[in-house]
Amino acid sequence: MDFVLSEEQQLMINTIHKMGDRENFRELAARIDESGEFPFHLVEKFADMGLLGMALSTEYGGGGLPSLTAVLAIEELAKYSAVIAMPVFEANVGPVRVIDLFGTEAQKRSIIPGVCKGEFSVSVGMTEPNSGSDLTSLSTKTVDKGDYLVLNGRKTFISGGGEASHYLVYTRFGDVPGYKGIGAVILEKGTPGFSFGKQEAFMGLRGMPSCDLIFEDVKIPRENVIIQPGDFKKLMMTFDIERCGNAAMCLGIAGGALEAAKRYATEREAFGRPICEFQAIQFLVVEMAMKVDAARLLVYRAATGAGKGLPSIYEASLGKCFANEMVVEVTNKAMEVFGGYGYSKEFPIERMLRDGRAWGIAGGTLQMLKITIAGMLFGKRFDQRR
Ligand SMILES: Cc1cc2nc3c(=O)[nH]c(=O)nc-3n(C[C@H](O)[C@H](O)[C@H](O)COP(=O)(O)OP(=O)(O)OC[C@H]3O[C@@H](n4cnc5c(N)ncnc54)[C@H](O)[C@@H]3O)c2cc1C
Repeated sequence: MDFVLSEEQQLMINTIHKMGDRENFRELAARIDESGEFPFHLVEKFADMGLLGMALSTEYGGGGLPSLTAVLAIEELAKYSAVIAMPVFEANVGPVRVIDLFGTEAQKRSIIPGVCKGEFSVSVGMTEPNSGSDLTSLSTKTVDKGDYLVLNGRKTFISGGGEASHYLVYTRFGDVPGYKGIGAVILEKGTPGFSFGKQEAFMGLRGMPSCDLIFEDVKIPRENVIIQPGDFKKLMMTFDIERCGNAAMCLGIAGGALEAAKRYATEREAFGRPICEFQAIQFLVVEMAMKVDAARLLVYRAATGAGKGLPSIYEASLGKCFANEMVVEVTNKAMEVFGGYGYSKEFPIERMLRDGRAWGIAGGTLQMLKITIAGMLFGKRFDQRR
């Protein structure tokens, strides 16, 4: 497989890198972490740079570029901060891709142009207080009332919750059990009966909005149904694009930690010498580089294979799993290079470790992903209920 980046991709990476350095995104990342507040002015900037919706269809204002280009942008921004990279993640590999791929003409026209301009963003509501990994037992329910539908239930840990303008909500239609009864609707913020829980206080990713979504007798027009019950597979297939984005976040965070560790090791002295001259430190840095590069190849393979469509489930799952484990190992090793300063908030490493830890839970746990991969390796589905 050819991993040579195009001139445009390289130019985009350089532009993001220069902007990040010029506008001191390292300091901004620390401020966001400290305050827990997202600087929404960034969204407009990213829109002006064409970073929002670059992987969405050109007919609706998107850039029509392959997912790999979005992965590269997310990675480069996440070197500074995964939270800073979040708008680019959401607008390219997030649930808006379900709208782009499977939405009706009216749904596409009403939402995608706004996402590309940074006026709208779309969050996904899958997880419920009592069903996370066991997604197909979800109990949020839509009942058909003839002219309209009525939605009741609760979603939890929803990234962008409270801030996003639109929500792709996984729901059961009627009483059909298991995955066969699950489809999805689009819900706009402000719809009567739709409210939010209090903002989540996570260990990391501070500044990324996240909360519960609460649905109490929400009246939904029929036109808001995007995935019919029985088409659950379409939701899962599209989610593999998000998995590539999740893995790109890990590449970025780990790459940022590696760069910081190299810099620090040449500046910090012990026993009268820069610590990079000690072989123990060199080996730590080499092991970090090995892991980041190996993960990069897996993630780029999955994203390249996806082109402008869907990635292979196997490649996306393998890339996410490896990158999720890698980012924890690499940021942890960076902490060793930094010694006590790594554990201090004076340096970014402890934040990177906290932020990095999230991705092996978000988008499906490592265990659940390994069950999916095992199924493909053994050529059979391992039903967890039996
Ligand atoms: C930062 C962050 C962002 C998130 N963003 C979103 C979002 O935007 N939208 C959304 O819908 N959700 C989101 N989530 C929720 C996330 O998808 C769930 O937390 C995740 O799927 C796990 O579900 P759970 O928390 O209910 O854990 P559980 O399903 O209760 O799992 C608990 C533990 O049991 C293990 N386990 C469960 N079943 C099995 C099994 N059969 N075999 C082996 N091990 C098993 C799990 O791997 C895990 O280790 C987010 C979570 C985080 C942390």
